Amino acid sequence: MKFDPASNIQDLLQFGEFGGVNPSITDSATYTFMEAQTMTGTFEGETEGCFLYSRHWNPSNKFLADALAAMEGTECAWVTASGMAAITSTILQICSAGDHIVSSVTTYGGTFAFMKNYLPKFNIDVTFVDITDLDAVKAAMKPNTKMVYTETMTNPLLRISDLPALSKIAHAGNAKFVVDNTFTPLMVTPAKWGADVVVYSMTKFINGKNDCVAGAICASVDFVNALSSVIDGTAMLLGPVLDPLRSSSILKNLHTLHIRMKQHSYNAMYLATKFKAIGLKFNYPGLPEHIDYDLLTKLLNTEYGYGGMISIDMGIAESANELMERMQIAGVGYLAVSLGYFKTLFSNSGKSTSSEVPKETQEEMGMSEGLVRFSVGLDNDIERTYQKIEKCLKDMNLI
Ligand code: PLP
Repeated sequence: MKFDPASNIQDLLQFGEFGGVNPSITDSATYTFMEAQTMTGTFEGETEGCFLYSRHWNPSNKFLADALAAMEGTECAWVTASGMAAITSTILQICSAGDHIVSSVTTYGGTFAFMKNYLPKFNIDVTFVDITDLDAVKAAMKPNTKMVYTETMTNPLLRISDLPALSKIAHAGNAKFVVDNTFTPLMVTPAKWGADVVVYSMTKFINGKNDCVAGAICASVDFVNALSSVIDGTAMLLGPVLDPLRSSSILKNLHTLHIRMKQHSYNAMYLATKFKAIGLKFNYPGLPEHIDYDLLTKLLNTEYGYGGMISIDMGIAESANELMERMQIAGVGYLAVSLGYFKTLFSNSGKSTSSEVPKETQEEMGMSEGLVRFSVGLDNDIERTYQKIEKCLKDMNLI
């Protein structure tokens, strides 16, 4: 049977305490026990279904985590207060002092900064590679490599990671394969292609409302148990837990993710086709001329399209800035970082979300200083939006 992540979410029977169609929100930090022995057992991880303290587990967080695990086809999940909390907890759970990571050089700037500037404190060494060069990934593996890390669709260049090939390389070296799937929820199911841990910034498409930051870790029961162990679990001891009120609202938004992803993809494909027609330099992995089109086509759960992310190359930062300011005034969307919102957002990656990446590294990875990354919104009439963009380009004498 076809793997259908949206139907897997839909099929869950999650009720509220009094039969509410939405699960009840548990806004308690601590939980009472009728018998002292049960509390002791819960501390020792022996009681199934008992809650102890909300930094450890909370029923509202469990509902959302179960829905995410259903979406990803993983045994289990854990929800965090931000995407960075999901990423950093996962890394610190897997790696100890003296270990080594092979990571894509093109990742979200915060991830890059954590690996490059923060992990040396713990004597964890990272080799950054062009993740699309499988020989380079193989060559970077060392006996102490504990993790291969990538994003399904890399930020901001929109290259695609060959997940099955990378998982093979990681597993041949006894390393975990960790994938950030923030740009491509529902579209790609990394666990199906061999990822051991899938991380998300739920701040983006999954929540889709830009009203909070949140993250998720989808993995095996063993991994989530280790992560939340009261003795030595990274998430339990560092404490980046998601607030249950937020969990509850994200869960409701998760149920419309399939409709939103289809519209984001439809709108981005429309813009890409128009950009192509007017000869603009752009990146969209949904058109056959994109270098990773075939690979993405192979990895996709097809019905959700090729995603809502598109970038255009304006050559220099000044032109990128002028275009973004004009587009904001014209009502195309907002000049803002982040993505996955119902309105279109655009930013110059090199000067914003990837500004943590040194200029030489940006050049090495082929990132132009004039790159404008769009997260295309849910616009009802995308032709009208395109006409606004076209007018801005004409006013700049670019077309
Ligand atoms: N991963 C990706 C691909 C991102 O784009 C971001 C944020 O922009 C993050 C992780 C970090 O997530 P958060 O801002 O929720 O901590």
